[in-house]
Amino acid sequence: MNQKENRISKTEKKLENVSKTVFKDWKYAPSPESTEHVKIAPRYDLFINGKFVKPESKKYFDTVSPSTEKKLSEIAEAGEKDVDKAVSAAKNAYDKTWRKIPAKERAKYIYRIARMIQERAREFAVIETMDGGKPIRESRDIDVPLAANHFFYYAGWADKLDYAFPKTNPRPLGVAGQIIPWNFPLLMAAWKIAPALATGNTVVLKPAESTPLTALKLAELIQDSGLPEGVVNIVTGFGKTGAAIVNHPNVNKVAFTGSTDVGKIIQKAVAGTSKKITLELGGKAANIVFDDAPIDQAVEGIVNGIFFNQGHVCCAGSRLFVQENIAANLIEKLKERMESLIVGDPLDKNTDIGAINSKEQLLKIQEYISIGINEGAEIHQSSCALPNKGFFCKPTLFLNTSQSHRIVTEEIFGPVLAVQTFRTIEEVIEKANNIPYGLSAGVWTDKGSKIFHLTSKMRAGVVWANTYNKFDPASPFGGYKESGFGREGGLHGLSAYLTI
Ligand code: ADP
Repeated sequence: MNQKENRISKTEKKLENVSKTVFKDWKYAPSPESTEHVKIAPRYDLFINGKFVKPESKKYFDTVSPSTEKKLSEIAEAGEKDVDKAVSAAKNAYDKTWRKIPAKERAKYIYRIARMIQERAREFAVIETMDGGKPIRESRDIDVPLAANHFFYYAGWADKLDYAFPKTNPRPLGVAGQIIPWNFPLLMAAWKIAPALATGNTVVLKPAESTPLTALKLAELIQDSGLPEGVVNIVTGFGKTGAAIVNHPNVNKVAFTGSTDVGKIIQKAVAGTSKKITLELGGKAANIVFDDAPIDQAVEGIVNGIFFNQGHVCCAGSRLFVQENIAANLIEKLKERMESLIVGDPLDKNTDIGAINSKEQLLKIQEYISIGINEGAEIHQSSCALPNKGFFCKPTLFLNTSQSHRIVTEEIFGPVLAVQTFRTIEEVIEKANNIPYGLSAGVWTDKGSKIFHLTSKMRAGVVWANTYNKFDPASPFGGYKESGFGREGGLHGLSAYLTI
Protein backbone atom coordinates (compact mmCIF):
# COMPACT_ATOMS: atom_id res chain seq x y z
CA MET A 1 0.00 0.00 0.00
CA ASN A 2 1.51 3.40 -0.96
CA GLN A 3 1.29 6.48 1.28
CA LYS A 4 -1.79 7.91 -0.44
CA GLU A 5 -3.67 4.60 -0.26
CA ASN A 6 -2.67 4.29 3.38
CA ARG A 7 -4.12 7.74 4.15
CA ILE A 8 -7.38 6.91 2.32
CA SER A 9 -7.69 3.63 4.16
CA LYS A 10 -7.13 5.33 7.54
CA THR A 11 -9.76 7.99 6.74
CA GLU A 12 -12.23 5.31 5.67
CA LYS A 13 -11.68 3.46 8.98
CA LYS A 14 -12.23 6.67 10.95
CA LEU A 15 -15.44 7.42 9.07
CA GLU A 16 -16.66 3.87 9.67
CA ASN A 17 -16.05 4.27 13.41
CA VAL A 18 -17.82 7.64 13.49
CA SER A 19 -20.89 6.20 11.74
CA LYS A 20 -20.87 3.21 14.11
CA THR A 21 -21.00 5.48 17.20
CA VAL A 22 -23.53 7.86 15.68
CA PHE A 23 -25.94 5.13 14.57
CA LYS A 24 -25.51 2.81 17.56
CA ASP A 25 -28.09 4.57 19.69
CA TRP A 26 -30.15 5.86 16.83
CA LYS A 27 -33.73 4.60 16.94
CA TYR A 28 -36.41 4.71 14.27
CA ALA A 29 -39.69 6.32 15.33
CA PRO A 30 -42.63 3.89 15.04
CA SER A 31 -44.18 4.00 11.59
CA PRO A 32 -47.09 1.57 11.60
CA GLU A 33 -49.19 1.06 8.48
CA SER A 34 -52.83 1.92 9.11
CA THR A 35 -55.30 -0.95 9.19
CA GLU A 36 -58.37 1.30 9.14
CA HIS A 37 -59.15 0.83 5.46
CA VAL A 38 -59.01 -2.96 5.76
CA LYS A 39 -62.18 -5.00 6.09
CA ILE A 40 -61.83 -8.46 7.54
CA ALA A 41 -65.18 -10.20 8.01
CA PRO A 42 -65.70 -12.10 11.28
CA ARG A 43 -66.34 -15.26 9.25
CA TYR A 44 -65.52 -16.50 5.73
CA ASP A 45 -67.33 -19.25 3.82
CA LEU A 46 -66.16 -21.30 0.84
CA PHE A 47 -66.02 -19.70 -2.61
CA ILE A 48 -67.74 -22.18 -4.89
CA ASN A 49 -69.38 -21.53 -8.25
CA GLY A 50 -69.01 -17.76 -7.92
CA LYS A 51 -70.67 -17.53 -4.48
CA PHE A 52 -69.65 -17.73 -0.87
CA VAL A 53 -71.39 -20.82 0.54
CA LYS A 54 -71.51 -22.37 4.00
CA PRO A 55 -69.52 -25.59 4.37
CA GLU A 56 -71.47 -28.87 4.35
CA SER A 57 -69.05 -29.90 7.10
CA LYS A 58 -70.47 -27.07 9.28
CA LYS A 59 -66.95 -26.65 10.68
CA TYR A 60 -64.93 -23.45 11.05
CA PHE A 61 -61.42 -22.76 12.33
CA ASP A 62 -59.70 -19.58 13.51
CA THR A 63 -57.04 -17.68 11.66
CA VAL A 64 -54.75 -15.84 14.06
CA SER A 65 -52.29 -12.99 13.61
CA PRO A 66 -48.84 -14.39 14.47
CA SER A 67 -47.59 -10.98 15.58
CA THR A 68 -50.38 -10.26 18.09
CA GLU A 69 -51.75 -13.80 18.67
CA LYS A 70 -55.23 -12.28 18.21
CA LYS A 71 -57.94 -14.04 16.23
CA LEU A 72 -58.60 -12.29 12.92
CA SER A 73 -61.50 -14.31 11.55
CA GLU A 74 -63.24 -17.69 11.38
CA ILE A 75 -62.67 -19.75 8.27
CA ALA A 76 -64.80 -22.55 6.81
CA GLU A 77 -63.26 -26.01 6.80
CA ALA A 78 -64.12 -27.81 3.58
CA GLY A 79 -64.88 -31.50 3.88
CA GLU A 80 -65.02 -34.07 1.08
CA LYS A 81 -68.56 -33.06 0.07
CA ASP A 82 -67.52 -29.42 -0.18
CA VAL A 83 -64.48 -30.31 -2.29
CA ASP A 84 -66.75 -32.40 -4.51
CA LYS A 85 -69.05 -29.39 -4.99
CA ALA A 86 -66.07 -27.18 -5.87
CA VAL A 87 -64.64 -29.70 -8.35
CA SER A 88 -68.09 -30.19 -9.96
CA ALA A 89 -68.45 -26.42 -10.31
CA ALA A 90 -64.99 -26.22 -11.89
CA LYS A 91 -65.72 -29.12 -14.28
CA ASN A 92 -69.04 -27.62 -15.28
CA ALA A 93 -67.44 -24.21 -15.91
CA TYR A 94 -64.68 -25.89 -17.94
CA ASP A 95 -67.10 -27.88 -20.13
CA LYS A 96 -69.74 -25.20 -20.59
CA THR A 97 -67.94 -21.85 -20.65
CA TRP A 98 -64.23 -21.44 -20.09
CA ARG A 99 -62.83 -23.79 -22.72
CA LYS A 100 -65.30 -22.43 -25.26
CA ILE A 101 -64.87 -18.67 -24.96
CA PRO A 102 -62.32 -17.09 -27.34
CA ALA A 103 -58.83 -16.88 -25.86
CA LYS A 104 -58.74 -13.10 -26.22
CA GLU A 105 -61.84 -12.89 -23.98
CA ARG A 106 -60.10 -15.08 -21.39
CA ALA A 107 -57.19 -12.64 -21.51
CA LYS A 108 -59.48 -9.69 -20.74
CA TYR A 109 -60.68 -11.31 -17.51
CA ILE A 110 -57.13 -12.05 -16.43
CA TYR A 111 -56.06 -8.48 -17.19
CA ARG A 112 -59.01 -7.23 -15.18
CA ILE A 113 -57.98 -9.32 -12.17
CA ALA A 114 -54.43 -7.91 -12.45
CA ARG A 115 -55.71 -4.34 -12.55
CA MET A 116 -58.04 -4.92 -9.61
CA ILE A 117 -55.17 -6.33 -7.52
CA GLN A 118 -53.23 -3.16 -8.28
CA GLU A 119 -56.20 -1.01 -7.28
CA ARG A 120 -56.56 -2.83 -3.96
CA ALA A 121 -52.84 -3.35 -3.43
CA ARG A 122 -52.66 -1.64 -0.05
CA GLU A 123 -55.53 -3.66 1.39
CA PHE A 124 -53.96 -6.92 0.16
CA ALA A 125 -50.56 -5.98 1.57
CA VAL A 126 -51.92 -5.10 5.01
CA ILE A 127 -54.03 -8.27 5.25
CA GLU A 128 -51.10 -10.41 4.09
CA THR A 129 -48.97 -8.95 6.85
CA MET A 130 -51.67 -9.28 9.52
CA ASP A 131 -52.44 -12.90 8.66
CA GLY A 132 -48.94 -14.16 7.85
CA GLY A 133 -46.58 -11.98 9.92
CA LYS A 134 -44.27 -10.86 7.12
CA PRO A 135 -43.06 -7.23 7.16
CA ILE A 136 -45.38 -4.80 5.39
CA ARG A 137 -42.39 -3.70 3.30
CA GLU A 138 -42.19 -7.18 1.83
CA SER A 139 -45.91 -7.67 1.20
CA ARG A 140 -46.24 -4.12 -0.18
CA ASP A 141 -43.13 -4.13 -2.40
CA ILE A 142 -42.79 -7.78 -3.36
CA ASP A 143 -45.81 -10.05 -2.82
CA VAL A 144 -48.63 -7.87 -4.10
CA PRO A 145 -46.92 -6.23 -7.11
CA LEU A 146 -45.52 -9.59 -8.21
CA ALA A 147 -48.96 -11.20 -7.86
CA ALA A 148 -50.45 -8.53 -10.15
CA ASN A 149 -47.52 -8.96 -12.56
CA HIS A 150 -48.15 -12.69 -12.85
CA PHE A 151 -51.74 -12.03 -13.92
CA PHE A 152 -50.56 -9.37 -16.41
CA TYR A 153 -47.87 -11.63 -17.81
CA TYR A 154 -50.10 -14.65 -18.32
CA ALA A 155 -52.99 -12.54 -19.64
CA GLY A 156 -50.62 -11.63 -22.47
CA TRP A 157 -50.07 -15.28 -23.38
CA ALA A 158 -53.73 -16.41 -23.35
CA ASP A 159 -54.38 -15.76 -27.07
CA LYS A 160 -50.84 -16.58 -28.22
CA LEU A 161 -50.54 -20.20 -27.17
CA ASP A 162 -50.29 -21.38 -30.79
CA TYR A 163 -47.23 -19.12 -31.18
CA ALA A 164 -45.76 -20.19 -27.86
CA PHE A 165 -46.03 -23.86 -28.80
CA PRO A 166 -46.13 -23.87 -32.62
CA LYS A 167 -47.52 -26.90 -34.47
CA THR A 168 -48.42 -28.69 -31.23
CA ASN A 169 -52.13 -27.86 -30.95
CA PRO A 170 -51.92 -26.87 -27.26
CA ARG A 171 -55.05 -27.84 -25.30
CA PRO A 172 -56.08 -27.28 -21.66
CA LEU A 173 -56.16 -30.19 -19.22
CA GLY A 174 -59.45 -29.53 -17.44
CA VAL A 175 -59.76 -28.93 -13.69
CA ALA A 176 -56.58 -27.89 -11.87
CA GLY A 177 -56.38 -28.68 -8.15
CA GLN A 178 -53.94 -26.24 -6.58
CA ILE A 179 -52.57 -26.39 -3.05
CA ILE A 180 -50.39 -23.62 -1.68
CA PRO A 181 -48.34 -22.89 1.47
CA TRP A 182 -48.27 -20.00 3.93
CA ASN A 183 -45.07 -18.19 3.02
CA PHE A 184 -46.36 -16.23 -0.02
CA PRO A 185 -50.13 -16.72 0.20
CA LEU A 186 -51.37 -14.25 -2.44
CA LEU A 187 -48.32 -14.61 -4.68
CA MET A 188 -48.54 -18.42 -4.72
CA ALA A 189 -52.24 -18.15 -5.57
CA ALA A 190 -51.32 -15.87 -8.49
CA TRP A 191 -48.49 -18.19 -9.62
CA LYS A 192 -51.00 -21.00 -9.83
CA ILE A 193 -54.27 -19.37 -10.94
CA ALA A 194 -52.91 -17.05 -13.69
CA PRO A 195 -51.29 -19.69 -15.97
CA ALA A 196 -54.19 -22.12 -15.39
CA LEU A 197 -56.74 -19.53 -16.57
CA ALA A 198 -54.59 -18.34 -19.47
CA THR A 199 -54.39 -21.88 -20.82
CA GLY A 200 -58.16 -22.45 -20.50
CA ASN A 201 -58.26 -24.61 -17.35
CA THR A 202 -60.55 -24.06 -14.38
CA VAL A 203 -59.38 -24.07 -10.79
CA VAL A 204 -60.00 -25.38 -7.28
CA LEU A 205 -57.44 -23.74 -5.00
CA LYS A 206 -56.73 -24.37 -1.33
CA PRO A 207 -54.69 -21.83 0.63
CA ALA A 208 -52.73 -22.86 3.73
CA GLU A 209 -54.71 -23.10 6.96
CA SER A 210 -52.65 -20.41 8.72
CA THR A 211 -52.92 -17.81 5.91
CA PRO A 212 -56.29 -18.07 4.15
CA LEU A 213 -57.31 -14.39 4.18
CA THR A 214 -55.71 -12.95 1.03
CA ALA A 215 -56.92 -15.93 -1.03
CA LEU A 216 -60.45 -15.23 0.25
CA LYS A 217 -60.02 -11.54 -0.54
CA LEU A 218 -58.91 -12.63 -4.01
CA ALA A 219 -62.14 -14.66 -4.21
CA GLU A 220 -64.12 -11.46 -3.47
CA LEU A 221 -62.13 -9.65 -6.15
CA ILE A 222 -62.73 -12.48 -8.66
CA GLN A 223 -66.45 -12.28 -7.90
CA ASP A 224 -66.35 -8.51 -8.57
CA SER A 225 -64.39 -9.05 -11.78
CA GLY A 226 -67.30 -10.89 -13.37
CA LEU A 227 -65.25 -14.01 -14.15
CA PRO A 228 -67.78 -16.70 -15.14
CA GLU A 229 -69.06 -18.73 -12.19
CA GLY A 230 -67.07 -21.81 -11.25
CA VAL A 231 -63.92 -20.91 -13.20
CA VAL A 232 -62.08 -20.26 -9.93
CA ASN A 233 -63.19 -21.93 -6.68
CA ILE A 234 -61.40 -21.36 -3.39
CA VAL A 235 -61.84 -23.87 -0.58
CA THR A 236 -60.22 -23.52 2.81
CA GLY A 237 -59.15 -26.19 5.26
CA PHE A 238 -56.28 -28.35 6.46
CA GLY A 239 -54.29 -31.22 4.92
CA LYS A 240 -57.44 -33.38 4.68
CA THR A 241 -59.08 -30.81 2.41
CA GLY A 242 -55.92 -30.76 0.28
CA ALA A 243 -55.94 -34.56 0.08
CA ALA A 244 -59.60 -34.53 -1.02
CA ILE A 245 -58.66 -32.23 -3.91
CA VAL A 246 -55.68 -34.38 -4.92
CA ASN A 247 -57.73 -37.59 -4.84
CA HIS A 248 -60.84 -36.29 -6.59
CA PRO A 249 -61.33 -38.24 -9.84
CA ASN A 250 -62.38 -35.14 -11.81
CA VAL A 251 -59.21 -33.22 -11.02
CA ASN A 252 -56.94 -33.44 -14.07
CA LYS A 253 -53.91 -31.55 -12.84
CA VAL A 254 -52.40 -31.16 -9.38
CA ALA A 255 -50.09 -28.23 -8.65
CA PHE A 256 -48.59 -28.22 -5.18
CA THR A 257 -46.17 -25.97 -3.34
CA GLY A 258 -45.21 -27.00 0.18
CA SER A 259 -43.10 -29.39 2.17
CA THR A 260 -41.19 -32.31 0.65
CA ASP A 261 -43.01 -34.73 2.99
CA VAL A 262 -46.46 -33.74 1.75
CA GLY A 263 -45.12 -33.57 -1.82
CA LYS A 264 -44.15 -37.24 -1.57
CA ILE A 265 -47.62 -38.17 -0.26
CA ILE A 266 -49.21 -36.33 -3.20
CA GLN A 267 -46.89 -37.95 -5.71
CA LYS A 268 -47.87 -41.39 -4.38
CA ALA A 269 -51.57 -40.45 -4.46
CA VAL A 270 -51.52 -39.54 -8.16
CA ALA A 271 -49.24 -42.41 -9.24
CA GLY A 272 -51.05 -44.60 -11.76
CA THR A 273 -53.65 -41.93 -12.59
CA SER A 274 -53.69 -39.69 -15.66
CA LYS A 275 -53.33 -36.57 -13.51
CA LYS A 276 -50.54 -34.23 -14.52
CA ILE A 277 -48.53 -32.93 -11.57
CA THR A 278 -46.05 -30.20 -10.61
CA LEU A 279 -44.39 -30.12 -7.20
CA GLU A 280 -42.45 -27.19 -5.78
CA LEU A 281 -41.01 -28.43 -2.50
CA GLY A 282 -38.36 -27.65 0.08
CA GLY A 283 -34.89 -26.22 -0.35
CA LYS A 284 -31.57 -25.57 1.37
CA ALA A 285 -29.91 -23.09 -0.90
CA ALA A 286 -26.18 -22.44 -0.94
CA ASN A 287 -25.14 -18.80 -1.08
CA ILE A 288 -21.49 -18.86 -2.25
CA VAL A 289 -19.15 -15.89 -1.75
CA PHE A 290 -15.74 -15.86 -3.49
CA ASP A 291 -12.85 -13.68 -2.34
CA ASP A 292 -13.20 -11.38 -5.35
CA ALA A 293 -16.85 -10.56 -4.53
CA PRO A 294 -18.06 -7.07 -3.57
CA ILE A 295 -18.22 -7.84 0.16
CA ASP A 296 -20.73 -5.22 1.33
CA GLN A 297 -23.08 -6.11 -1.51
CA ALA A 298 -22.70 -9.80 -0.66
CA VAL A 299 -23.49 -9.14 3.03
CA GLU A 300 -26.68 -7.36 1.97
CA GLY A 301 -27.53 -10.27 -0.33
CA ILE A 302 -26.97 -12.79 2.48
CA VAL A 303 -29.23 -10.78 4.81
CA ASN A 304 -31.86 -10.48 2.08
CA GLY A 305 -31.58 -14.20 1.35
CA ILE A 306 -32.16 -15.52 4.85
CA PHE A 307 -33.20 -12.82 7.31
CA PHE A 308 -35.53 -10.32 5.58
CA ASN A 309 -38.21 -12.91 5.07
CA GLN A 310 -37.77 -14.70 8.45
CA GLY A 311 -36.24 -17.46 6.33
CA HIS A 312 -39.79 -18.34 5.24
CA VAL A 313 -38.82 -18.96 1.64
CA CYS A 314 -38.15 -22.37 0.12
CA CYS A 315 -35.32 -20.76 -1.86
CA ALA A 316 -33.87 -18.99 1.24
CA GLY A 317 -30.07 -18.81 1.18
CA SER A 318 -29.80 -20.86 4.38
CA ARG A 319 -26.27 -22.24 3.77
CA LEU A 320 -23.47 -19.72 3.42
CA PHE A 321 -20.18 -20.77 1.84
CA VAL A 322 -17.41 -18.18 2.20
CA GLN A 323 -13.96 -18.46 0.69
CA GLU A 324 -11.59 -19.03 3.59
CA ASN A 325 -9.34 -15.97 3.11
CA ILE A 326 -12.22 -13.47 3.43
CA ALA A 327 -14.30 -15.39 5.98
CA ALA A 328 -13.23 -13.44 9.08
CA ASN A 329 -13.87 -10.08 7.44
CA LEU A 330 -17.21 -11.10 5.96
CA ILE A 331 -18.49 -12.65 9.20
CA GLU A 332 -17.56 -9.51 11.12
CA LYS A 333 -19.48 -7.36 8.64
CA LEU A 334 -22.42 -9.77 8.71
CA LYS A 335 -22.60 -9.68 12.52
CA GLU A 336 -22.50 -5.88 12.40
CA ARG A 337 -25.33 -5.79 9.85
CA MET A 338 -27.37 -8.22 11.95
CA GLU A 339 -27.21 -5.75 14.84
CA SER A 340 -28.96 -3.12 12.71
CA LEU A 341 -31.84 -5.38 11.66
CA ILE A 342 -35.17 -4.39 13.19
CA VAL A 343 -37.21 -7.32 14.45
CA GLY A 344 -40.78 -6.62 15.53
CA ASP A 345 -44.22 -5.38 14.49
CA PRO A 346 -44.58 -6.49 10.87
CA LEU A 347 -47.01 -3.64 10.19
CA ASP A 348 -44.26 -1.12 10.96
CA LYS A 349 -42.71 0.16 7.74
CA ASN A 350 -39.21 0.07 9.26
CA THR A 351 -39.38 -3.58 10.30
CA ASP A 352 -36.91 -5.91 8.58
CA ILE A 353 -37.91 -9.16 10.24
CA GLY A 354 -41.53 -9.80 11.14
CA ALA A 355 -43.24 -12.63 12.97
CA ILE A 356 -42.71 -16.33 12.46
CA ASN A 357 -45.84 -17.62 10.76
CA SER A 358 -47.16 -19.82 13.56
CA LYS A 359 -46.34 -21.12 17.02
CA GLU A 360 -45.61 -24.60 15.58
CA GLN A 361 -43.12 -23.10 13.12
CA LEU A 362 -41.43 -21.11 15.89
CA LEU A 363 -41.10 -24.28 18.00
CA LYS A 364 -39.60 -26.10 15.02
CA ILE A 365 -37.03 -23.33 14.50
CA GLN A 366 -36.18 -23.27 18.22
CA GLU A 367 -35.71 -27.03 18.15
CA TYR A 368 -33.25 -26.70 15.25
CA ILE A 369 -31.37 -23.98 17.14
CA SER A 370 -30.93 -26.40 20.07
CA ILE A 371 -29.87 -29.14 17.64
CA GLY A 372 -27.21 -26.80 16.20
CA ILE A 373 -25.88 -25.98 19.67
CA ASN A 374 -25.83 -29.67 20.66
CA GLU A 375 -24.04 -30.55 17.43
CA GLY A 376 -21.22 -28.24 18.53
CA ALA A 377 -21.70 -25.37 16.09
CA GLU A 378 -20.92 -21.87 17.36
CA ILE A 379 -24.06 -19.77 17.67
CA HIS A 380 -24.34 -16.03 17.21
CA GLN A 381 -27.61 -14.10 17.53
CA SER A 382 -28.25 -10.39 17.20
CA SER A 383 -28.76 -8.65 20.53
CA CYS A 384 -32.17 -7.19 19.65
CA ALA A 385 -35.07 -7.47 22.08
CA LEU A 386 -38.09 -9.43 20.90
CA PRO A 387 -41.71 -8.25 21.41
CA ASN A 388 -43.48 -9.82 24.41
CA LYS A 389 -46.45 -11.03 22.40
CA GLY A 390 -46.37 -12.95 19.13
CA PHE A 391 -44.00 -15.46 17.57
CA PHE A 392 -40.57 -13.96 16.93
CA CYS A 393 -37.06 -15.27 16.42
CA LYS A 394 -33.73 -13.46 16.48
CA PRO A 395 -31.61 -13.63 13.33
CA THR A 396 -29.22 -16.49 14.04
CA LEU A 397 -25.82 -17.54 12.66
CA PHE A 398 -24.16 -20.89 13.13
CA LEU A 399 -20.40 -20.81 12.57
CA ASN A 400 -17.97 -23.72 12.27
CA THR A 401 -20.57 -26.00 10.76
CA SER A 402 -19.87 -28.99 8.57
CA GLN A 403 -21.70 -31.18 6.07
CA SER A 404 -22.56 -33.70 8.79
CA HIS A 405 -24.59 -31.18 10.83
CA ARG A 406 -28.37 -31.46 10.63
CA ILE A 407 -28.66 -27.65 10.58
CA VAL A 408 -26.65 -27.77 7.34
CA THR A 409 -28.67 -30.43 5.55
CA GLU A 410 -32.24 -30.06 6.81
CA GLU A 411 -34.69 -27.31 5.90
CA ILE A 412 -35.37 -25.09 8.95
CA PHE A 413 -37.59 -22.45 7.33
CA GLY A 414 -36.50 -19.76 9.78
CA PRO A 415 -33.92 -16.97 10.08
CA VAL A 416 -31.06 -19.38 10.77
CA LEU A 417 -27.92 -19.36 8.65
CA ALA A 418 -25.31 -22.14 8.68
CA VAL A 419 -21.85 -20.93 7.66
CA GLN A 420 -19.06 -23.01 6.11
CA THR A 421 -15.79 -22.02 4.49
CA PHE A 422 -14.11 -23.37 1.33
CA ARG A 423 -10.85 -22.99 -0.56
CA THR A 424 -11.47 -23.97 -4.18
CA ILE A 425 -14.34 -23.73 -6.64
CA GLU A 426 -14.46 -27.52 -7.09
CA GLU A 427 -14.71 -28.00 -3.33
CA VAL A 428 -17.60 -25.59 -2.97
CA ILE A 429 -19.51 -27.07 -5.91
CA GLU A 430 -19.12 -30.52 -4.36
CA LYS A 431 -20.31 -29.33 -0.93
CA ALA A 432 -23.15 -27.17 -2.25
CA ASN A 433 -24.53 -30.05 -4.35
CA ASN A 434 -24.13 -32.63 -1.58
CA ILE A 435 -27.69 -32.29 -0.31
CA PRO A 436 -31.07 -33.85 -1.15
CA TYR A 437 -32.49 -30.49 -2.28
CA GLY A 438 -31.84 -28.49 -5.45
CA LEU A 439 -34.10 -25.47 -5.64
CA SER A 440 -31.84 -22.44 -5.77
CA ALA A 441 -28.37 -21.03 -5.12
CA GLY A 442 -26.49 -17.74 -5.12
CA VAL A 443 -22.97 -16.85 -6.24
CA TRP A 444 -21.00 -13.69 -5.49
CA THR A 445 -17.89 -12.98 -7.55
CA ASP A 446 -16.33 -10.38 -9.82
CA LYS A 447 -15.61 -12.96 -12.53
CA GLY A 448 -18.22 -13.84 -15.14
CA SER A 449 -16.29 -16.99 -16.04
CA LYS A 450 -16.61 -18.25 -12.46
CA ILE A 451 -20.34 -17.59 -12.53
CA PHE A 452 -20.77 -19.60 -15.74
CA HIS A 453 -18.56 -22.42 -14.52
CA LEU A 454 -20.46 -22.67 -11.26
CA THR A 455 -23.98 -22.31 -12.68
CA SER A 456 -23.32 -25.10 -15.17
CA LYS A 457 -22.30 -27.45 -12.34
CA MET A 458 -24.89 -26.53 -9.68
CA ARG A 459 -27.86 -28.87 -9.39
CA ALA A 460 -30.28 -26.06 -8.58
CA GLY A 461 -33.28 -24.79 -10.54
CA VAL A 462 -32.37 -21.13 -10.06
CA VAL A 463 -28.91 -19.61 -9.54
CA TRP A 464 -28.70 -15.91 -8.76
CA ALA A 465 -25.42 -14.14 -9.51
CA ASN A 466 -24.42 -11.11 -7.39
CA THR A 467 -28.00 -10.78 -6.20
CA TYR A 468 -30.50 -12.96 -4.35
CA ASN A 469 -34.25 -13.69 -4.21
CA LYS A 470 -35.15 -11.88 -7.40
CA PHE A 471 -38.32 -12.99 -9.18
CA ASP A 472 -39.93 -12.21 -12.48
CA PRO A 473 -43.07 -13.72 -14.00
CA ALA A 474 -41.20 -14.35 -17.26
CA SER A 475 -38.55 -16.54 -15.67
CA PRO A 476 -39.24 -20.16 -14.78
CA PHE A 477 -38.83 -21.35 -11.18
CA GLY A 478 -38.61 -24.90 -9.85
CA GLY A 479 -36.32 -27.53 -8.45
CA TYR A 480 -34.17 -30.59 -8.89
CA LYS A 481 -34.06 -33.70 -6.69
CA GLU A 482 -36.25 -33.50 -3.56
CA SER A 483 -37.10 -29.88 -4.31
CA GLY A 484 -39.65 -31.14 -6.81
CA PHE A 485 -40.22 -31.02 -10.55
CA GLY A 486 -42.02 -28.94 -13.12
CA ARG A 487 -41.55 -25.21 -13.53
CA GLU A 488 -43.72 -22.22 -12.70
CA GLY A 489 -43.34 -18.88 -14.43
CA GLY A 490 -42.50 -18.11 -18.04
CA LEU A 491 -43.38 -20.38 -20.95
CA HIS A 492 -42.53 -23.42 -18.85
CA GLY A 493 -45.29 -22.41 -16.47
CA LEU A 494 -47.79 -22.46 -19.33
CA SER A 495 -46.80 -25.88 -20.59
CA ALA A 496 -47.52 -27.36 -17.15
CA TYR A 497 -51.22 -26.66 -17.81
CA LEU A 498 -51.37 -27.89 -21.41
CA THR A 499 -51.42 -31.05 -23.45
CA ILE A 500 -49.11 -30.42 -26.36
P1 ADP B 1 -45.63 -26.19 5.16
O1 ADP B 1 -44.58 -26.92 5.92
O2 ADP B 1 -45.15 -25.14 4.23
O3 ADP B 1 -46.84 -25.81 5.96
P2 ADP B 1 -47.17 -28.31 4.10
O4 ADP B 1 -46.69 -29.20 3.02
O5 ADP B 1 -47.47 -28.90 5.42
O6 ADP B 1 -46.10 -27.20 4.11
O7 ADP B 1 -48.47 -27.52 3.63
C1 ADP B 1 -48.60 -26.95 2.35
C2 ADP B 1 -50.06 -27.06 1.91
O8 ADP B 1 -50.37 -28.45 1.75
C3 ADP B 1 -51.05 -26.51 2.90
O9 ADP B 1 -52.08 -25.86 2.17
C4 ADP B 1 -51.56 -27.76 3.61
O10 ADP B 1 -52.86 -27.62 4.15
C5 ADP B 1 -51.57 -28.76 2.47
N1 ADP B 1 -51.49 -30.17 2.86
C6 ADP B 1 -51.00 -30.72 4.01
N2 ADP B 1 -51.09 -32.06 4.00
C7 ADP B 1 -51.65 -32.40 2.80
C8 ADP B 1 -51.99 -33.65 2.17
N3 ADP B 1 -51.77 -34.80 2.75
N4 ADP B 1 -52.52 -33.60 0.93
C9 ADP B 1 -52.72 -32.42 0.30
N5 ADP B 1 -52.44 -31.21 0.83
C10 ADP B 1 -51.90 -31.20 2.07
